[in-house]
Amino acid sequence: MKKPSQKKQSAIDYTIVPKDLAGHLFNVTVTVANPDPDGQVFALPAWIPGSYMIREFARNIVRIRAESGEGEARVVALTKLDKHAWRAAPTAGPLTLHYEVYAWDLSVRAAHLDQTHGFFNGTSVFLRVLGQETLAHRVDIQRPLDPSAKTWRVATAMPEAGARRYGFGVYAAANYDELIDHPVEMGDFELATFEAHGVAHDIVITGRVPNLDMARLQADLKAICETQIAFFEPETRRAPLGRYVFMTMAVGDGYGGLEHRASTALICARADLPSLATPKAAEPSEGYLRFLGLCSHEYFHTWNVKRIKPAVFAPYDLQAENYTPLLWLFEGFTSYYDDLMLVRAGIIGEATYLKLQAKTIGGVLRGSGRLKQSVADSSFDAWSKYYRQDENSPNAIISYYTKGSLIALAFDLTIRARTNGARSLDDIMLALWERYGRDFYNGAGRGVTEQEVEALFDEVSGLKLKSMFERYVRGTDDLPLAKLYAPLGVKLSDERKGGKVSLDAGIGRDPLGAKLTQVHEGGAAHQAGLSALDVVIAIDGLRVNGNPPNVDTLLARYRVGDRVTVHAFRRDELMAFDVTLQADRVPCIALSQAVAGRKSAAIKRPSAV
Ligand code: ZN
Repeated sequence: MKKPSQKKQSAIDYTIVPKDLAGHLFNVTVTVANPDPDGQVFALPAWIPGSYMIREFARNIVRIRAESGEGEARVVALTKLDKHAWRAAPTAGPLTLHYEVYAWDLSVRAAHLDQTHGFFNGTSVFLRVLGQETLAHRVDIQRPLDPSAKTWRVATAMPEAGARRYGFGVYAAANYDELIDHPVEMGDFELATFEAHGVAHDIVITGRVPNLDMARLQADLKAICETQIAFFEPETRRAPLGRYVFMTMAVGDGYGGLEHRASTALICARADLPSLATPKAAEPSEGYLRFLGLCSHEYFHTWNVKRIKPAVFAPYDLQAENYTPLLWLFEGFTSYYDDLMLVRAGIIGEATYLKLQAKTIGGVLRGSGRLKQSVADSSFDAWSKYYRQDENSPNAIISYYTKGSLIALAFDLTIRARTNGARSLDDIMLALWERYGRDFYNGAGRGVTEQEVEALFDEVSGLKLKSMFERYVRGTDDLPLAKLYAPLGVKLSDERKGGKVSLDAGIGRDPLGAKLTQVHEGGAAHQAGLSALDVVIAIDGLRVNGNPPNVDTLLARYRVGDRVTVHAFRRDELMAFDVTLQADRVPCIALSQAVAGRKSAAIKRPSAV
């Protein structure tokens, strides 16, 4: 049999139309000029890189059909292969899929569409054409017909291929991996642009934010971006991108970000953004600092995880979990540097920085899970544990973000101390960048294995650091931070008040009293038999109520060792518990400069290189 004549195809072509704003539906088509002669398979990713959880985005495909031929289109049968994939019956000519995607997930991970704006990640809307992922991919982003969208613009770091900047029209990506790494925002957003070492950076803000102080945001982000670019490329100050977009959805209450190769999608509380109505303080407010820390974090990922990557992410397997024991390095070290970059950029001072660090240390010491799960295991099991936390998580797991950032601190302080300041963690990051990151998208892309990471730490520092990996990365030992801080004149203390008593449980709101959100292992509540999700209605015969519940006020009249009866509902059964009150075990860490005027070396570049 003669093979059908094949037209040379240069690209996979998509169109995406925000079709029904009120119904939250995108209409998407994908056209394949040379479908697989045995039947072309299409699949939507099961997860989005950067957020390590199986999300089954294909569940939001509402309708799907296939046709072939130009002009007189012929219906092509589609067979569902599994929850993510379809196979089209063999066809000779070009094959087009038409499908509808329901987009009503207000997060940075999926897609969202209504009369105010549209947002999508490619992982939610662009079916992958199996076997043709390395071809160029084009997408025609069309303006909704709805009159409310007449003034809408488009923001994305995806290169234009016919569209004007911020316009609807055709955009292009070199391959499928790039296509899904440029989220797209459309709407009447606020827009500002600044240059950081010669590269244009857009700030895109969606959502109503009265009196947004865009000038302050621009100045602060410029300082953060320039500091990070100069950190990774101290000589050339060359950013590894032509352009960058911070796309932000401002809402009443929310927090989150997802990193991409040339942009980040963020969600934040409106109140965290700077306002023209507030007097300008020297340092950012707590909320604004949280937002800048988030921006700094996602921007640092431009190097650390979007280019320096774990070997199993190069390439990603988009249909299943990608297990790596290295998220402590990619998320934890990014968490260490996100705040550090705020100091180096001059946005916060050392006192504020030490406060942030003290908070992280207290958080890590809080749960007994830290003694059971290593950060290597926490990384590996992120898919089923860190990303799927429940009431028992503090007793069972450790965060590779927070403990990972303390491991970075411990390595930094250790390397500085043992090399007399000649080397630091900065040198490790730069070596990772030079060897694995800089040329990742220039064809030389290869990820780093855990063995290579460990060898690189020793080689670059000139030290033997194996025992630190054994104890703190693969083991569950607490980090000796007080000892490591001491030579810098920084004193670490736990300022727990001895007299305060507590149930040692998380207290949440409930119409009947107080719901125990978590019960900490070994604490007073646990020892008395109380359980997470129990609703406490009385302590020693006195009613628990209020919003937030008055548990602390009631307990304030008791001493350590006092016994009280606690009444609680479990399901719909009233139960009584005999509780012996214990001293509050929540760590209250403080870091203070013991020697006035002495600068914490962790904040500065090493003086000798
Ligand atoms: Zn991150």
